[in-house]
This record gives sequence, C-alpha cells and structure tokens, in this order.
Amino acid sequence: MKVVHTIHHLQEAVSDFKKQHLTVGFVPTMGALHQGHISLTQRAKAENNVVVVSIFINPMQFNNADDFKKYPVTTESDLAMLSEAGCHLVFLPSADEVYTAHEAPLVFDLEMLDKVMEGEFRPGHFQGVITVVNKFFNWIKPDKAYFGEKDFQQLAVIRKMSTALHPDMEIIGCPTLREKNGLAMSSRNRRLSEQERKDASVIYESISLLTELKSSLDVSAAKNQVINSIQSVQPFKVEYLDIVNADTLISLSQWTESSPMRACIAVWCNEVRLIDNVPV
Ligand code: AMP
Repeated sequence: MKVVHTIHHLQEAVSDFKKQHLTVGFVPTMGALHQGHISLTQRAKAENNVVVVSIFINPMQFNNADDFKKYPVTTESDLAMLSEAGCHLVFLPSADEVYTAHEAPLVFDLEMLDKVMEGEFRPGHFQGVITVVNKFFNWIKPDKAYFGEKDFQQLAVIRKMSTALHPDMEIIGCPTLREKNGLAMSSRNRRLSEQERKDASVIYESISLLTELKSSLDVSAAKNQVINSIQSVQPFKVEYLDIVNADTLISLSQWTESSPMRACIAVWCNEVRLIDNVPV
C-alpha cells in the first residue's frame, strides 16, 4: 500500500493505474477508522481493480471549532487497517495542500438538500463537504466512489453534486455498520465514555420502533414518543428527529406509502453529537 501526501504524487499514482486500464474505487474518510469505513473499502475492492482511500479532516465542513479540534486522529492504526483491508493507495494531504489561503467554498446550489436537518443545524457544513469531495473527484477521477448511509443526507448531497459535475462517476451508498448494541459506528464514538457508549443504544432502539408506531400513531405523536424515550436516558438530548421522503429529504407530517420514508436523528451526548437514520 502506497501513502502519498501531495496532489502531484496522488495524480502520478492514479495515472499509473489508468495507464494499466485499472478501474479505480474511491473512499473518502476523515480517519479514526472503524469497521464502517473498512466495509466501504472492502466493497470498493470487490468492485474495482484498485482502491484509493483519502484521510483528511476537512476544516471547511466543521461549523464548530471545538468539534474540529477534538476530532480523533489515529493515523498509524488507520494505515494498518487499510493495508489489512487491501487498499492500494492512501491520500493523506495537509490542509495547505487541499486549500489555498482563505479559499471560498465551491458555488453549487444544493437546493433544499442543505437547508434541512444537518443543513439547518450545521450551516455551511455540506458546502464544505462538496467542496472537498469535488476536488478529490477531479484529482482522482474514480470510476466509483463509496459513501455510507450512516450519513444519509450527505449521500443525497454527494449524489446531487456528482450527477451535475461528475456524470460518468458512479456513487455507491453502503449500509450502516453498527456496534453489537445497535449504536451506529462513528469516529465520534471514541469520545464517549464506556457507559455512554452502552447507553447510546437507546438511539437506534428508539428510532427502530417507528416502523411499528406508524400503524397506531400520527407522525408527530410517534416522533414525540421516540424523543421522550431517548431523553429519558441521561444525558441524551435530541437536536432533531425528522421523518423525510428518502429521495427529496422533504419533511413529512403524515405517513405515506407512495415513496420510501427515512427517519433521521441528531442527538447530543454532553458535547458529542451523534447522528443516525433508519428506513421507516
Ligand atoms: P467519515 O470519516 O465520518 O467522514 O466517514 C467516511 C465515510 O464512511 C462516509 O461515507 C461515511 O458515511 C462512512 N461511514 C461512517 N460511519 C459508517 C458506518 N457506521 N457504516 C458505514 N459507513 C460509515
């Protein structure tokens, strides 16, 4: 496995792959890798000749300076995990390599997709995400790129940007990997205490109930029940719980059978913010 830090070396390695007519699968990450990331890498490996993984904690997508400062960094074990998973090339750039000084985000209209849920509570977040992912797509020009359904809204945003700017590239959404107790795997889980990690099972447990609750309660009452059940466990606080049309992400006030629905949630555990989502 080769590790490169500059765009020049990245493009040199990628152009070597292309000269050999090898197909390229790409997995962008922010590091602090867990089995969720590895499942994306393995899927990329199964569907392409070579796998490129980026590890970059993208400053432009953090709307909270403290969250950025405390984002876990575990580069050595990340590289060991990627090597073990059969990754071929890791791109590990510095912020100065990716951005020029005071660079503005990419101008791209995400319409409603960055106005709701995460977009509402993390202003500028998705513009930061598409700015860096668009750069990586331009430098690597992968055949396929892999994203987790764990970040359901991000996946929708990437699909929209990619359809317009990278129409030949395929975006593959991959299922959420969970801890045994149901907690969605996340780099931020490292910031939870052992007890909090156990108790955080209440998030998945409660949102999974929506599939049953929809037959007896209206959307608003079902949401309240889920929120109350999560908040009955200290110190969890629900920031939002939305039932949305899974394609448009438009919030639903009534259950519908005509299009797939998704429940999306953000929960604070003290100063750690956790997100999750399930089909309903
Ligand atoms: P991150 O490092 O958090 O930016 O995540 C990098 C990629 O891994 C994104 O496409 C995430 O959606 C995906 N990912 C994160 N957690 C999980 C998980 N538990 N299961 C599957 N994919 C995940």
